[in-house]
Amino acid sequence: MDTGFFVAWIEAAARAVAAGRERLTELDAAIGDADHGVNLDRGFTAVREALAADPPATPGRALTLTGTTLIRKVGGASGPLYGTVFRQMGAVLGSDAETTPDALADALAAAVAAVERLGGAREGDKTMIDALAPASRALSDAVRAGSAFEEALDAAVAAAQEGARAAIPLRARKGRASYLGERSAGHEDPGAASSVLIVTALRAAAS
Ligand code: ADP
Ligand code: MG
Ligand code: MG
Repeated sequence: MDTGFFVAWIEAAARAVAAGRERLTELDAAIGDADHGVNLDRGFTAVREALAADPPATPGRALTLTGTTLIRKVGGASGPLYGTVFRQMGAVLGSDAETTPDALADALAAAVAAVERLGGAREGDKTMIDALAPASRALSDAVRAGSAFEEALDAAVAAAQEGARAAIPLRARKGRASYLGERSAGHEDPGAASSVLIVTALRAAAS
């Protein structure tokens, strides 16, 4: 995959976040402070502007610019966390002009680990990790098993959706939703929902 693939991913993610803005904010209204959709839409709008103003020459640069812009613009817990996802992926992909499904899977795995280090959340804590970690595992497993790239990404999307769904009955242990304790159970985590959008956008970029 070349730089165009990664820019297409980020553009698709930005469109999905814009379209899902109200829903993400409603999810955050139930167990947070009702700003997740607004936060991410502000961030991804700035990312689109940054990519247009300073067209990246490599996949790594596209991802790093995305992450840096999200950290700068999002505000809220999700800014540094998603910023870390993209910056870590950019760091793993380095300055190569082209990348492979293997390298992408490794980059996503490193990104999940970096978010876990930064935020201290693990799977089951009802955060974006509940969608991102299974998606990363599914992608790595499918790529290693020799699946076609599109099929590997289908598996990643299904795993993200299933992870977000499985977290609904759980009690949040990280982030604002954790302040609600037991009352956070029964609600979908906004960050898990936005992670499903971002993983789905990655699949869309491959078709
Ligand atoms: P804020 O909570 O600061 O308003 P957002 O509403 O933009 O930030 O993002 C909230 C989302 O961030 C949560 O739904 C959750 O998925 C994610 N999140 C919060 N804290 C953590 C953490 N420590 N680790 C991983 N994800 C987290
Ligand atoms: Mg919020
Ligand atoms: Mg907030």
